Amino acid sequence: MTKYEVVIGLEVHVHLSTKTKAFCGCSTTFGQPPNSSTCPVCLGLPGALPVLNKEAFRSAIKVALALNCEIREKVKFDRKNYYYPDLPKNYQISQYDMPLAFNGYLDIYTVRNKISNGVSSEGKKRINITRVHLEEDAGKLIHDPNKNLSYVDFNRAGIPLLEIVSEPDIRNSDEACEYLKNLKAILLYLGVSNCNMEEGSLRCDANISLRRAGEKKLGAKVELKNMNSFKAVKSALEYEIERQRDSFERNAEIVQETRLWDSDKLLTSTMRTKEETQDYRYFPEPDLVPFSIDTKEIGLITNTLPELPKQRRDRFINQYKLTNIEADVIIMDKAIADYFEETVKVLNSPKIISNWLTGDIMNELNLKNISIDKLGFTPKMLAELIGLIDNASISGKMAKALLRECIEKRLPPEEIVKQKDLKQISGESELDEIIQKVIEENTKSVNDYKKGKTAAVMFLVGQVMRHTKGKANPEVVNKLLKKKLNKE
Ligand SMILES: [Zn+2]
Repeated sequence: MTKYEVVIGLEVHVHLSTKTKAFCGCSTTFGQPPNSSTCPVCLGLPGALPVLNKEAFRSAIKVALALNCEIREKVKFDRKNYYYPDLPKNYQISQYDMPLAFNGYLDIYTVRNKISNGVSSEGKKRINITRVHLEEDAGKLIHDPNKNLSYVDFNRAGIPLLEIVSEPDIRNSDEACEYLKNLKAILLYLGVSNCNMEEGSLRCDANISLRRAGEKKLGAKVELKNMNSFKAVKSALEYEIERQRDSFERNAEIVQETRLWDSDKLLTSTMRTKEETQDYRYFPEPDLVPFSIDTKEIGLITNTLPELPKQRRDRFINQYKLTNIEADVIIMDKAIADYFEETVKVLNSPKIISNWLTGDIMNELNLKNISIDKLGFTPKMLAELIGLIDNASISGKMAKALLRECIEKRLPPEEIVKQKDLKQISGESELDEIIQKVIEENTKSVNDYKKGKTAAVMFLVGQVMRHTKGKANPEVVNKLLKKKLNKE
């Protein structure tokens, strides 16, 4: 796309994993019986008063600090008024004109992306963060189209929600995904959310518009909703870019509106247009008194921040001599980064461990669509597997098959090697007899070799492998064969 520039801003909502809700003592545990985790406060009964959850507030500050935001000295909450059946109070406690934090940024690394239209956007890119604010979630409506009924579950009403709004700095769907992946990594490293998109703990809306290249003014903005995975975000943005580009080329007007992504039909459709945009009549929440944040308190929270993805990435490059791409791939998933370091503790071969992790192991994870802690293959087992190759007990090729078998049977590599008598034959005395036999049986190849056809030796190695059922160490066989043939 050369004639137009794509402008994307993302709005991410994330559930903070506190034990209790944002303004009452109800449990936030997912999957409880409908409406069992409710009280007068989160049901909006008259006279009930909210009290801010200190842990939710601290988590919000942690995220703001990790996103390099300025933190407002005075905290104020507002009421966002609207009526919807999943909102028992008829308003949501949120923050309007004075968000908790603002003016931050997140650096993304687009190095491992090959942008689909052939343009590569390698390197670091800064996505500015407009604001981070704390609010509460609404309840959940469950529709049953067969019975033509809707049910409401207020267990989610009042769960602390952090809204993170980016500047419109994103230029394509790959950058959008990279931003989300990086943001999710930070949230997981901070331990403030489980970021489970299926349970709705991480949700993303996007604002997208197109403008002619070089133009400063933003085009008519379309808001995209209902994207339940990173893949959905990518597909929805790509669909929308094409749709808007088509309108542009036909000189048709792009309507400012909110559109919903349909993941079955793979298209977006109008939800509401600008004329229907609601006026929320924000006003200060009278039940929560504004308060000042103690700078000492922020200092204390800053001191509790763990190592974040970017710092870990830099450390992995320096300490373990990994490449940018290796480090990037490994640190993005905290569990995988932890696994890597656990394995290095057992076996000091970071480069080889990184190869296994980013290659065969991540392949298995993708195939099975599981996280590394569910794989049943521990760091100790990986160290053991690499050790078996190192001491020439098994070949690299055997190791790959062995890895899959360990995962299937949930057994350590050495156990399976013992059970199946897989140990590679590397001893010269053991191999000598077989090699002698192969030489005697294949005089034609031996003669070919002596006439200068060096490739004939490969056939002979193959024969030795056949006799040993693939257990001979091919390098040793090659060396011994040549030695023998040259002597004859
Ligand atoms: Zn409650």
